[in-house]
Amino acid sequence: MKTYAIKEIFGPTIQGEGSHAGTAVLFVRFAGCNRWSGRMEDRSKAVCWFCDTDFLGGERLSADQVVDKLKNLSPFVKTVVISGGEATLQLDLEFVKTLKQAGFSLHLETNGSKDISELRSYFDHVTVSPKQAAEQTKIKDADDIKILYPPPIDGLRISQFESMGKNLFLQPIDGPGLSANTDLAIAFCHAHPQWRLSIQLHKILGVQ
Ligand code: SF4
Repeated sequence: MKTYAIKEIFGPTIQGEGSHAGTAVLFVRFAGCNRWSGRMEDRSKAVCWFCDTDFLGGERLSADQVVDKLKNLSPFVKTVVISGGEATLQLDLEFVKTLKQAGFSLHLETNGSKDISELRSYFDHVTVSPKQAAEQTKIKDADDIKILYPPPIDGLRISQFESMGKNLFLQPIDGPGLSANTDLAIAFCHAHPQWRLSIQLHKILGVQ
């Protein structure tokens, strides 16, 4: 039986970011990422030195076991956000088919570094939050593009992502600089109104 490294499965909660912000969802967070080891001693050298997600550890589960856990979380909520870490390092047809056949809508949150063309039709919504330059970003047909602001990645040019998604979001980097970063993001949106401000609603609400 094939298993996947899953950090956590939780919900119902509120999607905090992007064009589905405010909607009730369940979350499957895959373990592992290709932009940081997740260990504090590696953080200063990581591409994502700003990462605020714990994606280490968890348990190995089959796709059927994931479905069982999701069904136990809510009889009503049928939208599942597949997140990480970087879920595309593990995602495959067996996983997405099993969840779709169980009646779930699938939303993917990814850094866009892996080609998902084989899986794309199974996702009802794809958010790419790039952690590499546009030339290295493999997903060119996102629903949402969500770029942290100010861009913390060398070589990441915001304008190059404008053709890679339908809805364009800038999300101020959290932490001590959040207020200043929000002001900068707002100023950018004033000058480039094709971009929208994304705030992390779940943090304001204090939900997971
Ligand atoms: S790609 Fe996302 S989850 Fe992975 S290290 Fe960067 S911010 Fe964290």
